[in-house]
Amino acid sequence: MPDLHFTPGPTALYFTVEEHIKNALKQGITSTSHRGQVFKDIYKECANNLKLLMEIPDDYHVLITSSANEAWERIILNCVEHDSYHLSMGAFSSRFFKIADDLQRNASSLIVEDGTVPELGQIKPSTSDELITICLNESGTGAHIPLETIYELREKFPDKLIAVDGVSAVPVYPIDFSKIDTLYFSVQKAFGLPAGLGIWIVNNRCVEKAEQLAAKGKVIGSYHKLPEMVEKAAQFQTTETPNILGIYLLSKVAEDMLTKGITAIRREIDYKSAIMNMAIDEHPNLRHFVKEDKWRSKTVKVAETDFSSKKLIQYLAEKKMNIGTGYGQYKDSQVRMANFPTHSKEQVEMLVDTIAKFKP
Ligand SMILES: *Cc1c(COP(=O)(O)O)cnc(C)c1O
Repeated sequence: MPDLHFTPGPTALYFTVEEHIKNALKQGITSTSHRGQVFKDIYKECANNLKLLMEIPDDYHVLITSSANEAWERIILNCVEHDSYHLSMGAFSSRFFKIADDLQRNASSLIVEDGTVPELGQIKPSTSDELITICLNESGTGAHIPLETIYELREKFPDKLIAVDGVSAVPVYPIDFSKIDTLYFSVQKAFGLPAGLGIWIVNNRCVEKAEQLAAKGKVIGSYHKLPEMVEKAAQFQTTETPNILGIYLLSKVAEDMLTKGITAIRREIDYKSAIMNMAIDEHPNLRHFVKEDKWRSKTVKVAETDFSSKKLIQYLAEKKMNIGTGYGQYKDSQVRMANFPTHSKEQVEMLVDTIAKFKP
């Protein structure tokens, strides 16, 4: 049996990826020019497949970045003149605030305790805040913001731009794009692809904001200015030489997910999530880090261990199952396990059965 990767990302490749890599090599995709028709067709197909899979409205643009980190910087440069407001619930969500601060914006942050999520009543941006940032699935703690909270923010603050971090959440969680302005993700988590590619989805409100900032003489970037990215994307082109293989693989995996059916994928996620939750609940030495059931992510499970978490990680690794350590300060006191579309029911059943037999 090959090693199984339940690590939260990079994670196991989607089970069709190896075949797609072979086909890409056969077709010479790694040597094709990013100015040629072959690349344009790949980008177009990728954008279309993502639009179908994630129900992205036609007037939203699907742009190519190198990572989610890049999207953080792009969003601040292009969509914030002075003030931004960030919901921080762990290491990943806090980094958006940090980047806004690095870029010398007047950034403020609502920080909630790790393992919890901000509730609607606590979220109080000031009138001058131009942007609210939200992380759907905090991969560091395993906490998930309910979609309703995001939609209610749109109702309450219609004039502010809303940016959603979808890494480790999409395409599993269904987002209503009409209630947000931008969403970005990297592909090495829930899509099960090699790292090194990010997708940045934006609406025209974001583009107009960037144009206003540029007109005022603000720096909105260099090679990746939003209005130029959108202009290029209309021709299925990018400014730089992009990760062509990555875009091809994402397109193919999105197509495979469409063939399988997103409803079937989500049903499987729910089943696997339930048995993983049970495995944590029933083990005498494990506890859910996220205490509130409604805030527990379906896709990233974080368990506190009452022993050094290395022991469980090693025990599973000896059986060819890899899970993640805790994030940052929780490295040795927690484990993190992914439940992504690539993880089959049988694999997750084997993981939970093996965990049940573990004694520290
Ligand atoms: C992994 C992760 C990121 C960072 O992704 P990069 O590809 O390293 O930029 C951002 N947000 C969340 C929620 C993540 O899980």
